[in-house]
Amino acid sequence: MTVSTFAIFGVISACSESAAAPQITPEVPVTERPDNTTFEDVLAEYQAFNQRLSRVVAPLRIANAALCPDTVRDPGFYTHRLEDYPASIRPMAEIMLGLESKGLFIREVRSDTSAAEQRLEPGDQIVAVNENPISSDPIMSTYNEAVLRNGFDSVLSKVKIRTPEGREYLARIRPQTACDIPAKVVFSEQVNGHTDGRDVLMTSALMTSVPDDTNLALVIAHEMGHVIAGHAEKPQSQALELEADRMALVLMARSGYDVNGALTYWERAAHPHEGGVSGDSSHPSTLARYENFQSELSRINKYQRKSGSLKDLNFE
Ligand SMILES: [Zn+2]
Repeated sequence: MTVSTFAIFGVISACSESAAAPQITPEVPVTERPDNTTFEDVLAEYQAFNQRLSRVVAPLRIANAALCPDTVRDPGFYTHRLEDYPASIRPMAEIMLGLESKGLFIREVRSDTSAAEQRLEPGDQIVAVNENPISSDPIMSTYNEAVLRNGFDSVLSKVKIRTPEGREYLARIRPQTACDIPAKVVFSEQVNGHTDGRDVLMTSALMTSVPDDTNLALVIAHEMGHVIAGHAEKPQSQALELEADRMALVLMARSGYDVNGALTYWERAAHPHEGGVSGDSSHPSTLARYENFQSELSRINKYQRKSGSLKDLNFE
């Protein structure tokens, strides 16, 4: 069920007058990629999208844990298994990503985390967490998830790592509490961000089209707003879209994102799409969204002047 589509089409085209913003390039469906595109290219691109997404979403998830209905413990790294990839690209994944046929491996380590301090690296294998072994049998994935979940509930988790060279060591990880709203990249030629009410999904075309991380954070935070407010249960409307926009600014401000900068993007934009940028009456016009952003921004700036900090800012 796709309930909340971020109308980025109009946003991007409205912004194309600005020299700083990229033009939308004609969309090339994945199936019509140039013939010389290899699985290797696709895999590298997928990795790059995932790295950017996790870097942008991490502050939103961690700084806003208190506002989210459900939380998880975030160890600062992400894992994957060879079985996570389609059978056709597994041989390539094995070589490129350092995935052995069995086991749980580190896909990515975020900077500024205890995992990065402890020098965990993509390609390292997780052997055990708090002395509970990780099974290399794919059938044990539910058990493995429980080991990770319980292991990261601790203030200090001891993660046994095996490097690709075979060296084993105990990493001391201090997990952080984060919103339990997973963000994922899906390959699609549609410029679209949406949520099913639980996960936030960004298409590869959207990731390519959104000019910088602050504006990507705005799109993600808008979808997180829908999840937090439970909008998936309600019929889509302009009021819910505007509410998600206001919530997005709050989530961004608490995370240290430059909300005034995010709005500069809207100020630069012409507003040629009054009456619905997506041609869909459930979506407010660009102008209505802009004015809604502006009024929420002045509330946030006023709050900051009064309290000197944004970390306890709440939704209106
Ligand atoms: Zn929306």
